Amino acid sequence: MKAAFIDKPHSLNIIDRDIPSFSSREALIKVHACGVCGTDLHIYEGVMPWAKLPLIPGHEFSGVVVDVGKYVDSVSIGDVVVVDPNITCGLCRYCRSAKRNLCPNIESIGVTRDGGFAEYVVAPISQLYRVPSGLSLDEAAFTEPVACCLHGITRLSIKPGEDVLIVGAGPIGLVHLQLAKRTGAGRVIVAEVNDMRLKLAEKLGADLTVNPSEGGTVETVKGFLKGKGVEAAIDAAGGSTPLTLALSCLEPGGRLLVFGVASENDTWTIKPYDIYKRELTIIGSFINPYEMDSALNLLASGAIDVKPLISHVIKLEDLEKALKREIPNTIKVLVKP
Ligand SMILES: [Zn+2]
Ligand SMILES: [Zn+2]
Repeated sequence: MKAAFIDKPHSLNIIDRDIPSFSSREALIKVHACGVCGTDLHIYEGVMPWAKLPLIPGHEFSGVVVDVGKYVDSVSIGDVVVVDPNITCGLCRYCRSAKRNLCPNIESIGVTRDGGFAEYVVAPISQLYRVPSGLSLDEAAFTEPVACCLHGITRLSIKPGEDVLIVGAGPIGLVHLQLAKRTGAGRVIVAEVNDMRLKLAEKLGADLTVNPSEGGTVETVKGFLKGKGVEAAIDAAGGSTPLTLALSCLEPGGRLLVFGVASENDTWTIKPYDIYKRELTIIGSFINPYEMDSALNLLASGAIDVKPLISHVIKLEDLEKALKREIPNTIKVLVKP
């Protein structure tokens, strides 16, 4: 089979290798589409400490089951599936207290074991979810990122009528925008430095879009809200600069969701007095423990529309270009191996 193989940082080759073997409780999946995620860029650049190289990356994929292990009866050959890439141990105290995303023994398809940027991928059957009829496999490839956003938005617990700021309008920010609207947010404001992405945010229902590179963002946000800030903010970009912007736009008593993946060495300067006096809450969100089914429901029902987020569909051979950030104006790049 053809596969995209990263042997060391900044080195990706399309290789030919045997179709992988699988154990008695695993399934072999023919990959239909696999989304390129920021995590893949970080793995390629060698700044994802969690990744284990050499590796076939790719963790946001959909496909068809083409073979199953001998003890598998929950899925059959021909089933159309998506995969939760994060495999947890089930034995640690996090797994046994409804916090399985915090499992210290976590293995992750496309991060610590071979993933979906290949013609075939192997996954334990515990990770498989059947795709509801009516949902295309291209859209289904978004299930994992939508599930992660759902986990974050649930932790942020937006109440109906609250104003929300989202910093970053990549695929993650644009899913958060739709989820925030669905949860009953009042006005949803999107800040993003790329004007093409801002336009899409506007189309998808943002009440105000602002480009922080033009300066004066906090004033623009507060002007739009007639002098107040937002009750909730989401960093969907990653790093100290978007976090500072998001924090500055919060109302007293506001909540900030740290969702974007900052690089490991990034640090963030905040004033403890500000957190204290304005009684702010900072919330983390890591992957998704139990949201895959709900994400599929949101996609299949059309409540979350990811079709406008597919900006490019490319071949495996062009993956490195995407990982080198050489494809301009991307939202979500789907790879069809
Ligand atoms: Zn991802
Ligand atoms: Zn565990």
